Amino acid sequence: ATPTAVMVATGVGAKNGVLIKGGDALERAQKITYVIFDKTGTLTQGKAMVTTAKVFTAMDRGDFLTLVASAEASSEHPLAKAVVDYAKHFHFFDPSETKDSQKNDKDSNYSEWLLAVSDFVALPGRGIQCSIDGKHVLIGNRKLLTENGVTIPTHIENFLVELEEGAQTGVVVACDDILIGVLGVADPLKREAAVVVEGLVKMGIRPVMVTGDNRRTAQAVAKEVGIHDVMAEVMPAGKAEVIRSFQKDGSVVAMVGDGINDSPALAAADVGMAIGAGTDVAIEAADYVLMRNNLEDVITAVDLSRKTFLRIR
Ligand code: ADP
Ligand code: MG
Repeated sequence: ATPTAVMVATGVGAKNGVLIKGGDALERAQKITYVIFDKTGTLTQGKAMVTTAKVFTAMDRGDFLTLVASAEASSEHPLAKAVVDYAKHFHFFDPSETKDSQKNDKDSNYSEWLLAVSDFVALPGRGIQCSIDGKHVLIGNRKLLTENGVTIPTHIENFLVELEEGAQTGVVVACDDILIGVLGVADPLKREAAVVVEGLVKMGIRPVMVTGDNRRTAQAVAKEVGIHDVMAEVMPAGKAEVIRSFQKDGSVVAMVGDGINDSPALAAADVGMAIGAGTDVAIEAADYVLMRNNLEDVITAVDLSRKTFLRIR
């Protein structure tokens, strides 16, 4: 393609919110054989919502949610935000006080009902750990509990499996090494996700999902969206490894992601695509920025490259 053709393509991309960082990136996209999608915030809306909260001890529900929100208030994770919102909502909609003014007060002052937290540690790919009222609190996934020697009773394990088969993430809460409750968190797929996956397959491109989430949830989400290849329970540092494993046979691999977690993988990919209001780190590591946060632009990007390079060569 002539420099002019590249310039035109770059301009067409920009008009559609597809920012292309240079002619090399534009050229590589025509040869993509795999598109590896991050799950949370990329295939899904990244608007996690708590659907259910179950307490398995005599603890009061309000106290349970206060404990969980207090701990998660220090975490940046989307799951943490969902949990804090849910707890706020619970305290907010106390049926004994329904006046709007009181509601707003409680929301803006929510930090007042949070408990003091010390020794907070975020454990990537697992969850969080902290002390509240002298108690040792763990919130996260199975791996977190197992590593800390907390056992999961059968009836709770069954509840977790039920959540996961419904494409939800189970967030487990332990206090002083006793599992006290579970929250179910759902994150709906983006509307266009399934259509885009189907479109890629028609273009001869194989879609893959990579996620830190557990295998059962990942598989349920993948099934909904029409993806057959799933890499689950991948630690944050492992996503770039996954990319390299797909590149071994000379395949041209694109990675689509939004998070800080994804930037090493975006950089490792032949074509890194940062999507939406992704983090600055992700945008920096990427070759393409899909500003509209719409997965259709993955197809737009490949199309643009094919049209620019295949036709003219
Ligand atoms: P991803 O964003 O790809 O789902 P992460 O590595 O961010 O993966 O997280 C992996 C898993 O670790 C989550 O699915 C969740 O089970 C657990 N986790 C991480 N941080 C938290 C947190 N703050 N609260 C609860 N669970 C968490
Ligand atoms: Mg993500």
